[in-house]
Amino acid sequence: MIEPLVFRSSSSEETENIGKTIASFLHPKDIVFLSGDLGAGKTTLMKGVSSEWTGTNPAEITSPTFTYLHIYGEEKKVYHFDLYRLSSPSDFFSMGFHEFLSSNGICCIEWPDRLPENFPYAKVCIDISYDELDKRLITLRRMDALI
Ligand code: ADP
Ligand code: MG
Repeated sequence: MIEPLVFRSSSSEETENIGKTIASFLHPKDIVFLSGDLGAGKTTLMKGVSSEWTGTNPAEITSPTFTYLHIYGEEKKVYHFDLYRLSSPSDFFSMGFHEFLSSNGICCIEWPDRLPENFPYAKVCIDISYDELDKRLITLRRMDALI
């Protein structure tokens, strides 16, 4: 297993910037799992990832909690899923995942534990944890051999 990258953040601005750094480690067609409690900072991190990857203004990057999916960018796209409210795991595939597969984008999934069992794709796993105030520990693991 490849050594994880660990980042420490003390503010949402720092987390957004860490997202920008993480975007520079990603490759087209990467699938990224984002884990962590509600309010951990997954969507904040995605502001950085999506703005860096697509050139979208961070102010336009919002949580797809109620729509499951936001897509950003033209040439280089981000498919940002939030599966918190997904009731039937198999719905995921018809929700835009197939479109992602035929694109050159990256796919980032909040609440990946809601995915169908044995989801078969290689992935980058990011975990955000916190125990005090605004401090966050962000751990990134690549599960394939690209880095
Ligand atoms: P999630 O998507 O994991 O539910 P959000 O990114 O939507 O979380 O929300 C994170 C909340 O925590 C925001 O209100 C943000 O301002 C706050 N926050 C405080 N400190 C941090 C930090 N270091 N990193 C990220 N968010 C932080
Ligand atoms: Mg979120």
